[in-house]
Amino acid sequence: MSKAFLIDYEWCTGCHSCEVACQMVNDFPPGQFGVKLSILGPWPYEDDKWIFTNVPFFTEQCTCCAGLETATGQPYCVAHCQAKCLVFGELDELQKQMTAKPSQLLQGVGQR
Ligand code: SF4
Ligand code: SF4
Repeated sequence: MSKAFLIDYEWCTGCHSCEVACQMVNDFPPGQFGVKLSILGPWPYEDDKWIFTNVPFFTEQCTCCAGLETATGQPYCVAHCQAKCLVFGELDELQKQMTAKPSQLLQGVGQR
């Protein structure tokens, strides 16, 4: 079955915990990432307010934590996201979840 990540970027705070958790568990050197945060903006928003959009994406280095045990059974990046804006699962299931909120990102990671 194809696996994927569903990214509800509306709630991503830009905390980088997913990146750090991944680097630590995989022992990646600086500059190497399984998941990398993009910070887009700032864009003007109401009068003198400005907003950023934080969007994590998964790189070729992501193994989906294959062979790594976590307490929750979830990948480390997902388990460490305090905002709970990352979901890992079957592509088909996540596509269904996305219909409830289309303004999310769905990133397939192939057969893993
Ligand atoms: S699933 Fe595992 S390997 Fe992939 S980005 Fe998350 S922590 Fe890194
Ligand atoms: S841990 Fe969650 S909230 Fe923090 S940057 Fe990653 S996806 Fe965003």
